[in-house]
Amino acid sequence: MAPRPSNYDRLVSAESNQPGDLEALRRRLDEVEEALAHLESGDYGRCVSCGRDIPEERLSSDPLVRLCLSCAFARREENRGGA
Ligand SMILES: [Zn+2]
Repeated sequence: MAPRPSNYDRLVSAESNQPGDLEALRRRLDEVEEALAHLESGDYGRCVSCGRDIPEERLSSDPLVRLCLSCAFARREENRGGA
């Protein structure tokens, strides 16, 4: 199912909109484009790491989420200490 346009505003404003935060916006844009590609290929809502379905409540809190909770947690542990 395609995200409603109302979601788009949320995505765009979700990141800090301070000037100089272009880098964050670009990353967000990459994520949006990736999510759209997944939407077209039918992979939207599937964890890119383990391939399991991502729970709908997780997707509704962040439509761009690409990892299920356990993979996101594992990745966060890996990245701990890095910027
Ligand atoms: Zn996963």
